[in-house]
Amino acid sequence: MCQGFLFLMNSKIYILGAGIAGTTLSIFLDKAGVDHWVYDEPKFSRSSRIAAGLANPVVLKRQKWVNAAELFMPASRQFFTSLEKELKTKFIHHAEIEHVFHKAGEVNDWLVNSNKPHLNQHLGSVKKETLPFVESPLGRGVLQNIFWLDTHHYIEQHKAKLRRRDRLIEGEWSGTNTLKAEDKVIYCHGHLLRESHPSLAKAFSPTKGELMLIKGSQLPEDRILHAGVFTLPLGNGLFKVGASYAHQNLNDETSAKGLSFLEEKLNIFYKGPYEIEEQLAGVRPNIKDRKPLLGRLNEQEYVFNGMGSRGVLMAPYLAQHFIEFFLQAKALKKEWDLQRFI
Ligand SMILES: Cc1cc2nc3c(=O)[nH]c(=O)nc-3n(C[C@H](O)[C@H](O)[C@H](O)COP(=O)(O)OP(=O)(O)OC[C@H]3O[C@@H](n4cnc5c(N)ncnc54)[C@H](O)[C@@H]3O)c2cc1C
Repeated sequence: MCQGFLFLMNSKIYILGAGIAGTTLSIFLDKAGVDHWVYDEPKFSRSSRIAAGLANPVVLKRQKWVNAAELFMPASRQFFTSLEKELKTKFIHHAEIEHVFHKAGEVNDWLVNSNKPHLNQHLGSVKKETLPFVESPLGRGVLQNIFWLDTHHYIEQHKAKLRRRDRLIEGEWSGTNTLKAEDKVIYCHGHLLRESHPSLAKAFSPTKGELMLIKGSQLPEDRILHAGVFTLPLGNGLFKVGASYAHQNLNDETSAKGLSFLEEKLNIFYKGPYEIEEQLAGVRPNIKDRKPLLGRLNEQEYVFNGMGSRGVLMAPYLAQHFIEFFLQAKALKKEWDLQRFI
């Protein structure tokens, strides 16, 4: 079944989870010509499907470069752009974020940081002109050269492909006891790895995130605004507004507290009308040291996880890195290897 990789000759390879991580890894396995099956029961985690999908290498609040983003960002852009061409579909949207400044000091920091390596490609000009219904007396810093991924479309198109090939198992993972000794499973089931593998629970610091979909607003549709929360235009007057961060109630249920947080943050800078259409929640698989969690647990079980708040940015580079480890026995980067928690 697996062409070219002798050690996998008699093995079946399973991926558990078709979120951003599992989908991306499955596409890389396809590209390497490695046959595999993907297990997914969507009801367990909505994180990837509700995400805003921003590929953003800058922590806007602190104007800091995300660790290793100089590796992640070009790989992510290249992967999604060429996949779009190959599949003749559209799931990425080039965008700019205008970060609304709260303090005068922030503007100075922006100007200083925009000359620093890496940040200089993304921190652009400071806009002073007013926007109707938007309060930004100190101006807005333009974050450029980023994009966002329609994660739902990305995942669903690959699932459809797997389904056609009879390689998607739509149901709950049945555990390793149904596997043959030589079969392999790669765990891509996000924050739920804590529950299936309690020995790795200590690595996680998952965060629940909530978003709202709003309509009928006077927000600009040609840019994303950010000030505590972002407003992502989806077209036809619909915006995704988010996101919150919470360490409790780690499930996909929306909450009144989450909603009031989102409204409060939005109302600080946006003074126009809007209607809330829907509220969404998910759990991000954050790792304590904010680095991914990759590697091998034993002969049979592997992990491709820990994309935290930045699955779209990180998954393509990490999938290539993981594939080289999995198929060619190349070393994993130590700081991403799950062995650091064992
Ligand atoms: C509100 C919010 C906003 C976000 N915004 C962004 C953003 O702008 N940009 C960005 O890059 N990231 C964003 N993220 C983070 C991003 O969603 C995560 O990085 C990503 O979802 C991690 O994907 P994953 O594939 O590891 O896990 P998941 O998305 O959790 O996918 C795991 C899959 O496995 C399935 N599964 C689990 N257990 C089983 C089982 N036992 N049997 C069968 N199937 C199972 C689940 O149902 C799910 O389909 C956001 C997250 C949230 C919550």
